[in-house]
Amino acid sequence: MDSEIKHVSPSVYAVIGPEGSTNFSIVKGRDGSAVLIDADIRRIDEIAEALQLAGCAKVSYLIDTHEHFDHTSANFYFAQQGIPVVASAGCAGAMRDEGGPDFERMMKPVPELYERFPGLCLTLPDVLFTDTTKVTVPGVTLHLEYRAENGHSHSKGDTTIYFEEEEILIAGDLLYTEVHPVTFFGNIPNWLTALKPLFDNHYKKLVPGHGPTVDDEQTGRSYFKKMYDYLEDFHGHLQEIKSSRESSDEVAKHMLGGTYAGLGKTRMVERNIHQFLTGKWY
Ligand SMILES: [Zn+2]
Repeated sequence: MDSEIKHVSPSVYAVIGPEGSTNFSIVKGRDGSAVLIDADIRRIDEIAEALQLAGCAKVSYLIDTHEHFDHTSANFYFAQQGIPVVASAGCAGAMRDEGGPDFERMMKPVPELYERFPGLCLTLPDVLFTDTTKVTVPGVTLHLEYRAENGHSHSKGDTTIYFEEEEILIAGDLLYTEVHPVTFFGNIPNWLTALKPLFDNHYKKLVPGHGPTVDDEQTGRSYFKKMYDYLEDFHGHLQEIKSSRESSDEVAKHMLGGTYAGLGKTRMVERNIHQFLTGKWY
């Protein structure tokens, strides 16, 4: 399946990953330059196509919403062209301390990329902020906010981006829509706390880290609430496994049925449970 390039608002294009794979966003400035939000080296051709479609002659900044490989692995590609890579200090710290083995593991199935991009390696962001910052190009003001509660929610770098002029919220992986989330790098109780203030955020359109975009605030609120309920429910059941009151098969069955029956990326459920039980990375 191919990804879809969605024209979210006059200046925003989103590459919506097929079957719940990662979304990337492009915010186009009045001067035709782009701020790119997240980029995966395995899907660099899709990103190039979207930049072309958006009519962006150059990229002024790359922003990482958080440290995970599918959001940061193209840092090298853009940094090599002298493009600043912006992220939270939490994101940079997690990449520095834990990113190496993850980068190698994720690159194993695609060794040809090392030939296509000589020198390709884990590349840390080079413009860091702690709590909030602004990134601007002509006609575009992006407000970045660090939201990894106590330093660790979905990830250690979780950042949301609000595009002031067109009232677009880019939520990163704090929000998944219509697909099962990846929880195995996260701290679920902190993630729950991080989600609460997002219930009341204002925006016209919402771009999640994975899954389809959302066209109004009311629907967005219900997606944030669904995300919250899912995580709370899942976390409760994980505690039941821990205290041997439920088996992991029973919990998997629960997470795949009922109100969750329509969600995509069903394989994540077993991986999330397995990671919880073993503490091993995939
Ligand atoms: Zn992630």
